[in-house]
Amino acid sequence: MIVLHKKSEFNSQKMTEQQKIFMKMAIELSQKGMDLGKGGPFGCIIVRNGEVIGKGSNSVSSTNDPTAHAEVMAIRDACKNLNNFQLEDCDIYTSCEPCPMCLGAIYWARPARVFYANSKKDAAKAGFDDQFIYDELDLPYHQRKIPFKQILADEAKIVFENWLKKENKTLY
Ligand SMILES: [Zn+2]
Repeated sequence: MIVLHKKSEFNSQKMTEQQKIFMKMAIELSQKGMDLGKGGPFGCIIVRNGEVIGKGSNSVSSTNDPTAHAEVMAIRDACKNLNNFQLEDCDIYTSCEPCPMCLGAIYWARPARVFYANSKKDAAKAGFDDQFIYDELDLPYHQRKIPFKQILADEAKIVFENWLKKENKTLY
């Protein structure tokens, strides 16, 4: 219930001057990354207590890394700087609504809030349509463009059992 309350409060909040400044930084990064030939027009910064602690711009084509989206780059940078795998109390400012991969990464990183500028629809108009990934999620495995097949589950399960038995592990 508390979470729901916080959410509606967040949605009804007006944009603050500080939020405007941080989003402008993310948008500037998206332009700069594109101009420097790093990759697509996407930028992201991560803020904690009013301080920028991580930034990234899309670097897919320049690093031959399909996962090098702006949000993933910024999360890696922020986590490295914080020396932590969680982005507790952090705000993410991204120049575009995150794709499904980045959305997953954001949930794993657990920031407090996400601000985005361009929407998914804006991205689709610019040639970055991720709708096909959402469509794939609804399909049974055998109908997906990339087929998924489960094999050797019994062998792999042993490692999970070992994990459950393991002492002194870092939970995340
Ligand atoms: Zn992404």
